Amino acid sequence: MAKNNQNQEFPASCPVCRKVLSRKDVFPVFEAYTKILLHFSCPSCQTSALLTVVGGMQGTIGMGMVTDLDRAEIAEKFFGRSVSADEVIDAYQMMNNSKCIDFEDSFRN
Ligand SMILES: [Zn+2]
Repeated sequence: MAKNNQNQEFPASCPVCRKVLSRKDVFPVFEAYTKILLHFSCPSCQTSALLTVVGGMQGTIGMGMVTDLDRAEIAEKFFGRSVSADEVIDAYQMMNNSKCIDFEDSFRN
């Protein structure tokens, strides 16, 4: 992953201090077709949280929950192992392409 990508702003802010997060603060834990679970650590106030992002017909919705687990503990809880760099890149690409998720196809006959 290119180093300058790491400093790009991520479209979310810390729920505690409102600092806009950068990509290096955000760690994708799990992804499915329209959903992604992210873990982030705020570099400003050190808050860690889980963020669920769900894509839908009306756009993308995010829901957050503060946690005291760090990213390694989260990965272990979900996978029993660390997540590979390829999986991280795949999840970022899914986030970048989220407008490509087309639920309307599901409703067309
Ligand atoms: Zn913060």
